[in-house]
Amino acid sequence: MIQNKAPGKDVSDEDIKEKIPKVSKNNPDHFSSFDISGVTFGPNHCPIFAGPNMVENKELIEDIASNIKQIGASFLRGGAFKPLTFPYRSSKYTETRLDGLNWLSNAKEKFSIPVITEVMESKYLKEICKVADILQIGTRNMQNYPLLIDAAQTGIPIMLKRGYGASLRDWLGAAEYILNEGNNKVILCERGITTAHTHKSSSRFLLDLQVVPAAKEITHLPVVTDPSHATFWRPWVLPMTLASIGAGADGIMLEVHPNPSEAAVDPLQAIDYKSFSALMKKGKKVSEVLGYKKFGNLI
Ligand code: PEP
Ligand code: MN
Repeated sequence: MIQNKAPGKDVSDEDIKEKIPKVSKNNPDHFSSFDISGVTFGPNHCPIFAGPNMVENKELIEDIASNIKQIGASFLRGGAFKPLTFPYRSSKYTETRLDGLNWLSNAKEKFSIPVITEVMESKYLKEICKVADILQIGTRNMQNYPLLIDAAQTGIPIMLKRGYGASLRDWLGAAEYILNEGNNKVILCERGITTAHTHKSSSRFLLDLQVVPAAKEITHLPVVTDPSHATFWRPWVLPMTLASIGAGADGIMLEVHPNPSEAAVDPLQAIDYKSFSALMKKGKKVSEVLGYKKFGNLI
């Protein structure tokens, strides 16, 4: 029997060999590079995922798709299935589910932009897979292993968001479940962790920028960040995006909404089109300096 001699939060050499062999690098230069619907992931590429938190209605998602594409996003994001923190919902705050998927699908076709959307339950995978270019597994489901396995078996690329209380070891272990099903197009997303000090009581999470280089030391998978969920606070989204690029992020997820304060979900964290455009321009400059070849659809 294999004994783990160094259990705990560190990823040990033994873990790398025995527990996460598929997620781990074969050599220090090993870095996965793959295409998803025409977008390249890999060294020196920084795809941008942008869109509302929730797919609220048909008109909104089309307006957002059109604008973010024109500004330079690579993927349209938006949840039709939402893990909402409380079960009591106003009509505005209700998941749009299969209707939302249809609106997302219309926007995707109309504006030719690939889509990433969340899956929470295996029973909806079939419907979601008709629309999604990437399946998003949210922070709350990072360790829902049956869901990971079912999602992996569809063969559709997967973004695995880090559980907000999960160690790097937990996160990589969850990713191993997906790779172990033969699905190698896996993107890791740091979306903020729970910690004592978040510098503002409205800021629920802290963007763990250190996990970007820490993860990339061990894994060949791309590591992206989500400054919107991590900061939960609009004014901090731009600086944390630029810092993510500096930390070596392989992509950025951002919440964009035409009227952020009116967003049905998480209205404090979304940015408007003008701010998104300014962010893309600054991000492009920083990424150029750091040797990135592509930032969203720009460069
Ligand atoms: C989201 O991206 O819409 C989302 C719910 O994110 P998280 O799972 O990171 O909270
Ligand atoms: Mn959210």
